[in-house]
Amino acid sequence: MSSTPYDFCIIGAGSGGLSVAAAAAQFGEKVVLIESGKMGGDCLNYGCVPSKALIAAGKHAHAFRSGADFGVAAAEPKVDFQKVHDHIHDVIAGIAPHDSVERFEGLGVKVIQAAGRFMDAETVEAGGETIKAHRFVVATGSSPSAPPIPGLDEVDYLTNETVFLNTSLPRDLIIIGGGPIGMEMAQAHRRLGANVTVLEAFDPLGKDDPELTRVVLDHLRDEGVQILAQAKISNISQTKAGVSVELEHDGTGKTVKGSHLLVAAGRKPNVDGLNLEAAGIEYDRRGIKVDDGLRTTNRKAYAIGDVAGGLQFTHVAGYHAGLVIRNALFRLPAKNKTGHIPWVTYTDPELAHVGLTEQAAREQHGDAATVLKWPFEENDRARTERKTDGMIKVVTAKNGRILGATIVGPNAGELIQSWGLAISAGLKIKAMIDQVVAYPTLAEVSRRAAITQYADLPAKPWIRQLIGFLKKFG
Ligand SMILES: Cc1cc2nc3c(=O)[nH]c(=O)nc-3n(C[C@H](O)[C@H](O)[C@H](O)COP(=O)(O)OP(=O)(O)OC[C@H]3O[C@@H](n4cnc5c(N)ncnc54)[C@H](O)[C@@H]3O)c2cc1C
Repeated sequence: MSSTPYDFCIIGAGSGGLSVAAAAAQFGEKVVLIESGKMGGDCLNYGCVPSKALIAAGKHAHAFRSGADFGVAAAEPKVDFQKVHDHIHDVIAGIAPHDSVERFEGLGVKVIQAAGRFMDAETVEAGGETIKAHRFVVATGSSPSAPPIPGLDEVDYLTNETVFLNTSLPRDLIIIGGGPIGMEMAQAHRRLGANVTVLEAFDPLGKDDPELTRVVLDHLRDEGVQILAQAKISNISQTKAGVSVELEHDGTGKTVKGSHLLVAAGRKPNVDGLNLEAAGIEYDRRGIKVDDGLRTTNRKAYAIGDVAGGLQFTHVAGYHAGLVIRNALFRLPAKNKTGHIPWVTYTDPELAHVGLTEQAAREQHGDAATVLKWPFEENDRARTERKTDGMIKVVTAKNGRILGATIVGPNAGELIQSWGLAISAGLKIKAMIDQVVAYPTLAEVSRRAAITQYADLPAKPWIRQLIGFLKKFG
């Protein structure tokens, strides 16, 4: 047993746990970090990084096919999937040192590579060591969940933990789940040459504004991805060539056959084996219960990131880490807010959102909510790039306060950032109008949408009268 208790005992070395460990160690705290799998967690090894690397490979393949409009002869790309695999893992390897045991030991953190479990409210056991600490941070993330579909248990299927290990292209890929992960994987694999069918029980990309998701779905369909919405799967079975899925779609029974099956149908919090009951930490199927300051029902323990059951993104885990540091080290009030947190689906075109959707704004503000829109078609840079599909939609309150923004179009994930800043700073739409935006940039869509707040101004009689008055006496 350690002689003096640690200041922080962190379970899970993914996006959230690593951020707490690095910050606490840099402030001179005594930190132990426990990781049962790979340093860097899901984001580095099985999530954001490999998925974006695969998407980038898909973009290159797509560029080959779509050059004709620019005067560059279109050609079918020759894809060597072993090399696509190598590219993905080379990208991971390039980032890995930042999350490595060596780096954290260099910061003075004790790293234990084993599973951690609570023994009681103030003790954790890992790799045969008994650890006492003033504070615990549970940052164990989430895992792919398997929907209760008859036969799924008996077939071979891929998840985000295995799909990036493929060294040959899944020729006929069936994806269960039409959320962001399913859609990103569908487009990337399609572009690299696979036949892809997405089976979604409800609406694809259902968490986003349907007016904007339609643009993404149309693109994917145009590229040849088959998307079956409202598909009710009744059975899955293994065949010689892969899998066979029985389902009902549009009122008729169908069978979809594929060489590979990828399940991307939701996530479950990693709470198994932590013995949370012994520590008095309550949880349910969505995750560990936390208060506004991310404290669990055990006052000494915080839960952050995916395991805390809210928005499941790397930047949220990082944000949570910052709140824990604020609260635990500086005793500053830390309130976990979500209204200013953006999310992005990295399809082409990208789909990005922050704040309230139009529907939520209408529910909360009624007719006082104003919707401002601007299409990429009216943006000169989008025209030069021939990427004119998409739009920005912004919602404001009666006094002009920005409530939310959704963007579908080229670089939407970058463009959403200024709206996130505007919302977190409580800015009004006038601030977006007052900025000077470089020409020609895609960012002009943001300002142009903002200006539409005053689109009917020139037609107002009082404005005409004011101008006339100023001419006469000004
Ligand atoms: C395919 C895919 C693509 C994604 N793309 C994006 C994206 O583009 N942008 C984005 O923001 N988010 C993305 N995400 C989500 C993002 O990966 C997660 O939100 C993020 O990794 C959560 O961080 P975390 O610290 O909560 O958990 P993790 O990063 O998963 O880390 C948890 C760690 O805890 C360890 N652990 C679990 N139990 C124990 C235990 N008992 N003892 C010790 N260690 C334990 C695990 O091994 C793991 O390393 C994606 C996810 C997937 C699956």
